[in-house]
Amino acid sequence: MRTLITNGTIVTAEGSHRADVLIDGETIAAVGRDLAAGLGDGSAPDKLIDASAKYVIPGAIDVHTHMELPFGGTFAKDTFETGTRAAAWGGTTTILDFAVQSRGKSLREGLDAWHAKAEGNCAIDYGFHMIMSDVNDATLAEMDALVAAGVTTFKLFTAYPGVFFSDDGAIFRAMQRTATNGGLIMMHAENGLAIDVVAAQTAAEGKTDPYYHGVVRDPIFEGEATNRVIRLAEAAGVPVYIVHLSARDALDEVRAARDRGSAAFAETCPQYLFLTLDDLGNGFEGAKFVCSPPLRPADHADDLWRGLVKNDLQVVSTDHCPFDFAGQKDLGRSDFRKIPNGLPGVENRVDLLHDGGVVAGRITRERWVELISTAPARMFGLYPKKGAVAVGSDADLVVYDPAAKHTISASSHHMNVDYSCYEGREVTGEASVVLSRGKTIIEDGTYVGAKGDGRFLRREPSQAYLRIA
Ligand SMILES: [Zn+2]
Repeated sequence: MRTLITNGTIVTAEGSHRADVLIDGETIAAVGRDLAAGLGDGSAPDKLIDASAKYVIPGAIDVHTHMELPFGGTFAKDTFETGTRAAAWGGTTTILDFAVQSRGKSLREGLDAWHAKAEGNCAIDYGFHMIMSDVNDATLAEMDALVAAGVTTFKLFTAYPGVFFSDDGAIFRAMQRTATNGGLIMMHAENGLAIDVVAAQTAAEGKTDPYYHGVVRDPIFEGEATNRVIRLAEAAGVPVYIVHLSARDALDEVRAARDRGSAAFAETCPQYLFLTLDDLGNGFEGAKFVCSPPLRPADHADDLWRGLVKNDLQVVSTDHCPFDFAGQKDLGRSDFRKIPNGLPGVENRVDLLHDGGVVAGRITRERWVELISTAPARMFGLYPKKGAVAVGSDADLVVYDPAAKHTISASSHHMNVDYSCYEGREVTGEASVVLSRGKTIIEDGTYVGAKGDGRFLRREPSQAYLRIA
């Protein structure tokens, strides 16, 4: 099966140029001008896609999703089937989801459980990070085996005491282990112990609306924890990756660390660029916007954009973790502490970053591709199989119409959740055709793939500190 994409503008992290792309089977066979003439044997391709006036970009990679995550007595609403299909609609062709080790169980048991949820259900390729709930001799030894099995990244938390929380000693031991096994530690950096104190005091004063979720999780607590985990990584002599960085206080710590030569890396998410603390107001409606870290006052976003431009932030992911407003967010109607934490977003990231980044003049289209695809591929051991438009790379490609306008709405999105954080927002830019390893899965406004198209990705160790320093 050969597919030829003609007349498009190839946009990669390195630059843009007019070229055709020839796909043979699952991979890219050629990139160049007038490839139709050069097929040589006089044969026609099996499928021709006209990309005139459109971009051809490497499929986007969302390195932070939580399909079917158990949280606060319920489960994130998107399954691997519905969530990966929604991702495809939005131009994302790879997700990395977080498998969870339950306290007292092995890492392997947690990983097996996530494999069972995903296998045969995904529309696009997928990999896993491992959330470590216990750090002990047994789980440390298991880390080595997971790296060998292609699960090369491990997430720990300074937040959520009693659930995912690890103390500094545990975090440090896990970091030390990555110095020898090639793994990379990802950190949720907020001081959860201090936050719980303020949250309890605030609730006791009768302040129980969703807005207070944002108030009690002070940016100072994110800045403090970010500095602490970076310092621990420096002491262990390893890189560290901060997930969902939301606040200027945390960005300042990452920038300072990078300026002194540390391999400190961080991602932010669209919600921290496009939504603010004010969205948590308006009574219980604010529950739709409850996530951790919380949305911040509007001025933080200006700093985050600057961080994206200057590469102190290297990746934009979603932290996609959707809960219905009716029936799930409701659990916290009388107490913000009981609202399931998480927002839907896996379908909207590429368009929001194009509209609010490229069209708005904040970033170049090449930087857009780098943030949503190429840097994630390098950071998480997938490059150049993913994240590139190059001969030999997987033919995960998006024909993107940079001029198409559409309005984001729960009534038209494909995520399995009853609201959108961006309801009514008009964006410019839309995926026209999406290919996953050479197979067209979105075309003419229709999903034409099948559940089970997506395969598990065994990842290499991060290439981050070789290429993105
Ligand atoms: Zn998350």
